[in-house]
Amino acid sequence: MGHLVRCISEDGTLLIMACDTTDIVQRAYEIHLTSKVCTAALGRLLTAAAMMGSMLKGKKDSLTLKINGGGPAGSVVAVADSSCHVKGYVVDGKIELPLNGKGKLDVGGAVGRNGFLTIIKDLGLNEPYVGQVPIVSGEIAEDITSYFASSEQTPTVCGLGVLVAQDKSVIKAGGFLIQLLPSALNDTIDKVEHDIENISSVTEMLTGGMSPYDICKTVLPSFNIEQLDESFPEYKCGCSRERVMQALTAAGKTELLDMANDENTEVKCQFCDSIYNFSSKDILDLLKSSSDTADENDSANTSEQ
Ligand SMILES: [Zn+2]
Repeated sequence: MGHLVRCISEDGTLLIMACDTTDIVQRAYEIHLTSKVCTAALGRLLTAAAMMGSMLKGKKDSLTLKINGGGPAGSVVAVADSSCHVKGYVVDGKIELPLNGKGKLDVGGAVGRNGFLTIIKDLGLNEPYVGQVPIVSGEIAEDITSYFASSEQTPTVCGLGVLVAQDKSVIKAGGFLIQLLPSALNDTIDKVEHDIENISSVTEMLTGGMSPYDICKTVLPSFNIEQLDESFPEYKCGCSRERVMQALTAAGKTELLDMANDENTEVKCQFCDSIYNFSSKDILDLLKSSSDTADENDSANTSEQ
């Protein structure tokens, strides 16, 4: 289970949250068996999703982060809901790249820099909210910062880190997010900029034994901060046979008729790799029950006339 702590400065000018997502990113690696660079890319995006998910207010709200920069890893996707459940995948999660010039996992190279970071928020309204920004570096934290600045007009500082071991397991993963509130003064911005100039990386702080609350305090030494709340995000996929059946029905009659020609149709969940098998008869039953529903609607219409 991850651990996420949200704090506010005593003067009410900024919010800061920090989280330890080691267990979540390790779980993602175990499911997808991603290469080191792809574990880092997915882990950073999952960590950002966990923090942004903690800002959702409605019980059924959810958000999807998708980054696609045309790099060899393809799209990286992370989903979070307001119950602190996160999940994600990388389209080509097995590709590996040499370390970058700084000797770090080359996340920007794997993601690519020609494309967009897209954020979709489903807030239970008719239409989801969609925000999109061009990719800055593909390193993800900078891209999240750019999204908040241009789509939400909220000055933000974001740090994300994933430390992967030689055997590809996850040693530490986590992140922090600072957001200036509308009450922030020029002085606040200067103080934040000064504070973050010399901070160590998130994974260094976590490896050194710091808790998310310690990280909040360490990142902003010029501010007195108070803890608002904490939560325990986890990697969890809500898929089920029923949900897959709903998705198949939504695919339409022609698709289903096509599938019914095959003896067996295998549907694999992209988020947790669960496999659901449907026999030709299952598909025909699904087709029948979906047309029954359509018939009922038809007869209801007729009786009204
Ligand atoms: Zn699933």
